[in-house]
Amino acid sequence: CQHSSLHLPQEHFLHRLHALQQEFLHISPQAMQQVATEFNLPLSQVAAVVAFYSFFSTQPCGRFHILFSNCTSCGYLSDEQNLMQLLSQQLHATPGQTRADGLVSIDETSCIGLCNQGASLLVNGIPLTHLSPDKIAQIAQRITAHIPTAEWPVEWFEINDTIYQRNLLLTAPLVPYDALQKAIIHGAAETLAIIQQSGLNGRGGAGFNTGQKWQLCREAPGDTHYVVCNADEGEPGTFKDRVLLRDHAEALFEGMSVCAFVIGAKKGFVYLRAEYRYLQSHLQAVLARRRTQGLLGRHILNHLDFHFDIDIVVGAGAYICGEESALIESLEGKPGIPRIRPPFPVTHGYLGQPTVVNNVETLIAAAHIVEHGSGWFNSVGTEKSKGTKILSVSGDCQLPGIYEYPFGVRIQRILDDCGAQNVQAVQIGGPAGKLINVTEFDRTISFEDISTGGSFLVFGQPRDLLTIHRNFAHFFAHESCGFCAPCRVGTQLLKNNLDKIAEGRGTTYDIEELKQLSSLIQHHSHCGLGHTAANHVMDSLQHFPQAFTAHLKQHFTAQFDLDQALKNARQITHRDDAAAHLD
Ligand code: SF4
Repeated sequence: CQHSSLHLPQEHFLHRLHALQQEFLHISPQAMQQVATEFNLPLSQVAAVVAFYSFFSTQPCGRFHILFSNCTSCGYLSDEQNLMQLLSQQLHATPGQTRADGLVSIDETSCIGLCNQGASLLVNGIPLTHLSPDKIAQIAQRITAHIPTAEWPVEWFEINDTIYQRNLLLTAPLVPYDALQKAIIHGAAETLAIIQQSGLNGRGGAGFNTGQKWQLCREAPGDTHYVVCNADEGEPGTFKDRVLLRDHAEALFEGMSVCAFVIGAKKGFVYLRAEYRYLQSHLQAVLARRRTQGLLGRHILNHLDFHFDIDIVVGAGAYICGEESALIESLEGKPGIPRIRPPFPVTHGYLGQPTVVNNVETLIAAAHIVEHGSGWFNSVGTEKSKGTKILSVSGDCQLPGIYEYPFGVRIQRILDDCGAQNVQAVQIGGPAGKLINVTEFDRTISFEDISTGGSFLVFGQPRDLLTIHRNFAHFFAHESCGFCAPCRVGTQLLKNNLDKIAEGRGTTYDIEELKQLSSLIQHHSHCGLGHTAANHVMDSLQHFPQAFTAHLKQHFTAQFDLDQALKNARQITHRDDAAAHLD
């Protein structure tokens, strides 16, 4: 088929590793050697990739591999940690280990994007929602009886849409090919001008102007240009891209194709987070349909010079790959360590070539803008924030779900709409975002005021904020890629410090330590993860100091357990008698 000749079926390196992990439940040294030979890579690179991503394992997982989210929103607020303990007890399994007979392994993972579906888990990569103690017992029975997940009740795996507010993007019709055809009629320069006139800014949170990004890439010299969709939303409390990928995939691919037409790309990638791997077959089906319709491949819509196709690459469980240069490293089959910038991906991206990286919502908005016009888009929103923002609302509210508002919407309006009462605080933009208290509920969602990639987490009055900060700090310590010391060490120290305060061993000294650490991580880290990892602590020290001070001791306590610190010395000297311990 001429339309598919650009679609290269060659297996992606990460997909090869996923296949091995799935078949053998781990990736052995022999398998790594085999892959190194197949892909003509050094064994050290294969080993580094396997070690970097949390969805690859060198130790065998269970035939039923269960992951509970430890995210504040879908984990802690939904009581998932207790449900994990319950399932572990019923299956006689230990969290973090594979049962001796290899039947089951149970573990935690970072946010799985099911924050509005009640307590949820992934079993062999498939989401299972609305957990309860009763359902946990039924799951344990099925696993014990070796019943495959394909024979479990189908309704267990249903994910219901909970869209409570629709505006421009979630209501406007978009007929496949209409936007693309208009782009071809306008020509690349005029289409770019429409995007620029619309005032569209990237929806990932940073808000870089999309038209400017496309123009820089279009003008950058290079053999090949690429368009990449960042579908790696991993900010705890974010799940809107899951809904967009499932229900608006046509608009997404249309947006990518329009971008490709403007910048002269022949190849595009959707980098899909591993936690959404179950959406891959749906996305592939939409791509296949577009190929048969002549919307992908060679001579798209009979245009002589327009050839473009899209591959889906599934990540492997690393929050840092949401950072665009880390994502590109991962696309290239490497650990997702952020690059030193400049140069920026628009000039030196995938394989060193000019590359546009936009997120799912941005690309869908671009398709609609070309379809409906820049005026349709920029007549909504505020002066500096055009259009709408889609939010993932979760936490202590009656109606957790998807909400699309014009930019400039007040926080209080969102709280009213989602049925949040007696609110203590709202975390906007995930743990890396902004924590606000009741005095700030008149502020707005906009690039001028509070910007967010989409996460909107509500905390009611009874919530212990220190527990939430501990959860956030553990998240960053786990997700730091380890490249630079201020973040690698700083996030660990921040976690240790918050643990110490929460365990009642902290003093006022530790509050000062928190402030200094936060400042150090913010100002000396290499990438955005480090720059923002302590935001939640700094906001909370300002707005909710009692969340920390209420747990403090009045006198100094050592930050470490001295007796425990001597454990290695006791092992080396083969001593464990009373005299080898501190009183
Ligand atoms: Fe990696 Fe953190 Fe440094 Fe970013 S700031 S490069 S995530 S260690």
